[in-house]
Amino acid sequence: MGLLSDIVKMFENMFNKSVKGSVENFITNNGKCPKCKKKIANKKAKHCPNCGFKLVVTCNKCKKEHPHTAKYCEICGGRLRK
Ligand SMILES: [Zn+2]
Ligand SMILES: [Zn+2]
Repeated sequence: MGLLSDIVKMFENMFNKSVKGSVENFITNNGKCPKCKKKIANKKAKHCPNCGFKLVVTCNKCKKEHPHTAKYCEICGGRLRK
């Protein structure tokens, strides 16, 4: 059925969008700072505006930014230093 495949495509699009969105969003822990637990309004914030906690780690090799919970770079596989 055409309708069913349309619905499947719709869900696939939604899934892809949410995955893409999570790449730019460095805040884990449901939008709260992992250190001071305050809610961070700016989803693309790189530091907590309340306590200054660093929410992002930068790869030394390729300079790609990752959420602070990441241990390895998803682009080059390099170890991320905190
Ligand atoms: Zn904080
Ligand atoms: Zn890298």
